[in-house]
Amino acid sequence: MKRELGIARCGLACCLCSENDRCGGCDSGGCPGTQWCFNRKCSAEKGLSHCYDCEKDCKEGMFSKIKPLGFTEFARRYGESELLGCLERNERNGVVYHREGIIGDYDDFDDTEALIAFIRTGKR
Ligand code: SF4
Ligand code: SF4
Repeated sequence: MKRELGIARCGLACCLCSENDRCGGCDSGGCPGTQWCFNRKCSAEKGLSHCYDCEKDCKEGMFSKIKPLGFTEFARRYGESELLGCLERNERNGVVYHREGIIGDYDDFDDTEALIAFIRTGKR
């Protein structure tokens, strides 16, 4: 885990991304989403560094997917540092962020609260 890369604007974990050897995150221009990403543009226009700092109950752009939605809600409640700590511990215990392509152990959820509980405990 490259903790220094932190969490993207949309909540995705740049620190654990399988592409992070050639992409430094949202503001590096390296993210494949840069051209089309609603959340990157919208948060920048609002002067926010991350969507987790936004008070809107938002389902736009990347928030149609459970992983950015759950990670953002986690960071909103407990803070980015706590999120990074949990992700680091879970990785040590064998949880894989990108197992096949960009799909991994945090993607197999239908419910945001269940995903948040998994991030916190590392247990399903
Ligand atoms: S999808 Fe958008 S917000 Fe998410 S990492 Fe890429 S550019 Fe950043
Ligand atoms: S409105 Fe949505 S996309 Fe825009 S900054 Fe807020 S949470 Fe992010």
